[in-house]
Amino acid sequence: MKNTKKSPSFRTSGTNLRRAKTHNHSVVLEVIRTQGPISRTEISRVTSLSRQTIQNIVAQLDALDLIRMKASKVVGRGHPGMEVILNADAALSFGIHVDKTRATAVVCNLEGVQIWGGTNNLASATPEGANAAILDAVQDFRKEFDALYPKVAGCGIAAAGPFDTGSVSEKEPTNFHEFGTEENLRRLSDQLALPIVLENDATAAAVGESFYGSGREFENFAFLQFGVGLGSGFFLNGDQYRGTKGNAGEIGHVIVELGGEHCSCGNTGCLERYLSIDALCRHLGLSPDDSHTFDHISSLAAERDPALISWIEGAVPRFHQALNILEAMLDPEVIIVGGTAPENFLDLLIEKGAPYPRSLSGKLNGRILRGTAGHQSIAMGASAVSMSAHFAPSVSQLVL
Ligand SMILES: [Zn+2]
Repeated sequence: MKNTKKSPSFRTSGTNLRRAKTHNHSVVLEVIRTQGPISRTEISRVTSLSRQTIQNIVAQLDALDLIRMKASKVVGRGHPGMEVILNADAALSFGIHVDKTRATAVVCNLEGVQIWGGTNNLASATPEGANAAILDAVQDFRKEFDALYPKVAGCGIAAAGPFDTGSVSEKEPTNFHEFGTEENLRRLSDQLALPIVLENDATAAAVGESFYGSGREFENFAFLQFGVGLGSGFFLNGDQYRGTKGNAGEIGHVIVELGGEHCSCGNTGCLERYLSIDALCRHLGLSPDDSHTFDHISSLAAERDPALISWIEGAVPRFHQALNILEAMLDPEVIIVGGTAPENFLDLLIEKGAPYPRSLSGKLNGRILRGTAGHQSIAMGASAVSMSAHFAPSVSQLVL
């Protein structure tokens, strides 16, 4: 069944990006974004739209300042033609990653170049506290770059799910599902006066990898996300896969140990209990809610601290289980490992994970990549979620 229930998106006014809103405009923009500089003839070939249609759409995108025309290189004795490139600074997007302690915000352009970034701590670990921190972030950006604010096309927000479910305790540090209720998002969108899109943090990170990062060259990949908890996001056949309620990829709650440790979801033996920053913090006696904890883990990784290494070595079989589950289910080209965990911690985990078990397709090497990591990585993904909402998901859905 086609999923007709979309994430909330309200109030459209403002940027040129939002005015170029027909499906074919979006498709042409997407082709220019991913394949430019590109000639109009080539766009016509790629999209199967007529040359006249492409001429008209490109002229309209040019009038909206979303693209630039440039002379192509002369090959042989011919005259130079004109090629189309994206005007990457024509539109900006907020990306906000919110958890129970802080709202991390970035503003990126159409190519994922970060224009601004900031972090605000929550006064309380509640939806109201999160909304206030997000509004503060937008105000902080406007204090520095108010002239750029009209270019902001929308706001992508990433939070830890699962959403829309009654089975998870609000006291657990690994999720913030009460933030993602429709009522709270409507209130936040009214306050921001921007279209907002909420995405599960791991899916947002996967969209970020696909839009800006190391997933750009792959049609099929899985993203394994190390935040405080463990999640995964899927990019399948060139598009994100969200699931019915946006909760696809909750790999942290796959049961890997029958009768194992009790989990926030109500089950026992979930993968996240053994393979996550939360699990590492329990091992080292650190607080996952403390904003300095990730810096501390990064220092331990830099020193190759024996207690950290010992936890990683103990967690490697669980890491292999996670990779095995993703590969057996999805047959992806690669698995990208990233998230808000420190880069050097993830590098150490990937290093200690070798040798890796064989995938079902027999592949041994080159299938585990490190993606974007660090405290702004999910916020970058969230900005891509907002941007990708303005581009066509697939050139196979042309309106001729
Ligand atoms: Zn669980």
